[in-house]
Amino acid sequence: MAEINIYHLYPGQLNLYGDRGNMLSLLRRAEWRSIKLNIIPVEPGDNINFANCDLLFMGGGQDSDQKLVAADLKKRKKELHGAVEEGMTIFAVCGSYQLLGSYYITADSEKIGGLEIMDMHTEAGKNRLIGNAIINCTLWNPSKTLVGFENHAGRTYLGPSLKPLGEVVSGFGNNGLDKTEGATYKNVIGTYLHGSLLPKNPWLTDYLLQKALAYRNQDTRLSELDDYMEEEAHKAAIELTGSKKHKRMSSRA
Ligand code: GLN
Repeated sequence: MAEINIYHLYPGQLNLYGDRGNMLSLLRRAEWRSIKLNIIPVEPGDNINFANCDLLFMGGGQDSDQKLVAADLKKRKKELHGAVEEGMTIFAVCGSYQLLGSYYITADSEKIGGLEIMDMHTEAGKNRLIGNAIINCTLWNPSKTLVGFENHAGRTYLGPSLKPLGEVVSGFGNNGLDKTEGATYKNVIGTYLHGSLLPKNPWLTDYLLQKALAYRNQDTRLSELDDYMEEEAHKAAIELTGSKKHKRMSSRA
């Protein structure tokens, strides 16, 4: 039986707007294919190594949450760099995505050092970028649509060597300016999209499962599922994007 180990980094601190639902989506879509999926929560200070981790998930967090985990994350930096170079998958949302870069300068002008896995940095702007977003995601050829909800003050700027996860069709994306959203490096995916993201974008869930299986040389073929509900949720999220104006708001999360 195929088996995948997912390490859920800092579930107590990093979880906004239903990010935890991403884990449920991975779990169910694995189980429906008779793949055994183990979810291992990792808290700050836990004595754990990533040698058995196939997929690392990190959810979103407010500036204060990011500060709380930054020191622990720093201790794991070298090990995580090694695992990423070997092909381990990371899926990081919003506050965690920001921590994959060199640094994040918060709304209070504090600089939080990042993991430096991705060639990018983030600085908080005056307003928050809030709304439902659609991106044209280039992980596939032809590209596929991803829909999610974004709410961030941080503006992320990608270095020249880093590929965005997709192009903004509607919403703000990395910085509200250059139409890029998220980033990919090797099997690492960072995105601003919450929601939770995976239940209504099942092709991304399956992409992550396949990357995790491939990492341990397991069969990556996934049986077809009836995705009627998921596709309806996807369509509903797209409709929401059309009906609600995107807001630049001054309030903090
Ligand atoms: N604190 C970060 C910001 O506001 C991330 C917020 C989030 O994860 N939604 O930019």
